[in-house]
Amino acid sequence: MTFLNLKLIKPLIVALDKMGYTQPTPIQEQSIPHILNGKDIFGCAQTGTGKTAAFALPILQLLSLNKNNNNSRNIRALVLAPTRELALQISENFKSYSNQLQISHTTIFGGVSQVNQVKDLQRGVDVLIATPGRLIDLMNQGYVKLNNIEHFVLDEADRMLDMGFINDIRKVIAKLPQKKQTLFFSATAAPEIMKLANTILVNPEHVSVTPVSSTASLVNQSVYYVSKENKRSLLKFVLKDGKIEHALVFTRTKHGADKVAKDLNNNGIKAEAIHGNKSQGARERALKGFKNRTIRVLVATDIASRGIDVDKLSHVINYEMPEQAETYVHRIGRTGRAGSSGIALSFCAQEELAYLKGINKLIKKNIEVEKSNPFS
Ligand code: AMP
Repeated sequence: MTFLNLKLIKPLIVALDKMGYTQPTPIQEQSIPHILNGKDIFGCAQTGTGKTAAFALPILQLLSLNKNNNNSRNIRALVLAPTRELALQISENFKSYSNQLQISHTTIFGGVSQVNQVKDLQRGVDVLIATPGRLIDLMNQGYVKLNNIEHFVLDEADRMLDMGFINDIRKVIAKLPQKKQTLFFSATAAPEIMKLANTILVNPEHVSVTPVSSTASLVNQSVYYVSKENKRSLLKFVLKDGKIEHALVFTRTKHGADKVAKDLNNNGIKAEAIHGNKSQGARERALKGFKNRTIRVLVATDIASRGIDVDKLSHVINYEMPEQAETYVHRIGRTGRAGSSGIALSFCAQEELAYLKGINKLIKKNIEVEKSNPFS
């Protein structure tokens, strides 16, 4: 299967070629034909499967082919994403894929001044990528009109609900025209997700790849039994291994992320924390440093980690076990992206054993216990 088989237009093929993408991923293969046919989609897929291109490519194609009936001032496609990082990631995708097309896009999110965002909106864009809070804010101020939307994407709907965005989502949907194409993506198909999907999708096609419990199969996983007090020492011990060039470390709290990063820096290991209390500039700097390898360890909370897309991330370390088993799968999905394999290490204290049990149940195997552990 090639992108040409998917009937993508030349400018998109050229852009994909430039990026070195030779063949579509399964979610792209399944979704693109339906989207080009104008169907609504319920997509069960998580980050790392290529889902962004699965909706961005056909939307760009449809916008570009139907350009005549637009006076270019209207927003024609809206992508809602739960976090700033994910919104920026989606925006980068649109930028790369549209470089041979006359389709404009912009991204709006909170935590930064609205001035430049408003300027972009006033100039007029075809595609708007937004987080819910800032979108509502700018809608209320009259800068965003959604009555000409032809394509609406709700990305990471499960995370949106987790983050309490349900009312914001409903407010946005109420402003969209009746006639539109809706593409709904979620990593899970939990009952409350299906309930939301059923209220906004019309006769959707269901596409699904790597169910949340099986993505883990590409990743090499092991668990260290360790007391809470010894986790810091264990982390430094683990990072002594020079093979770990680059690690994303997960903590449960923002405060915990700061503490871990500080301790690593005090011990000569270059680290940065990334979480919701950091300014947008600080988050972007940390991510950039991590991507260009000036920072070896990025310590993140779950929400901040969404949308972190780093090529060839070799290691994910669960400094604290997540309470939700699905979160574990999301976390380790940061490594082993787009087919390459990765390594996930988890630090499990006595009081976290129940979480580990839940994870083992979800992924349908017992994570191997690491034997070379001086702290067990
Ligand atoms: P996503 O799930 O959209 O976050 O994409 C995960 C990663 O896969 C990103 O780095 C994409 O740029 C990359 N990617 C998307 N589609 C393809 C493809 N067809 N071939 C290779 N890499 C891809």
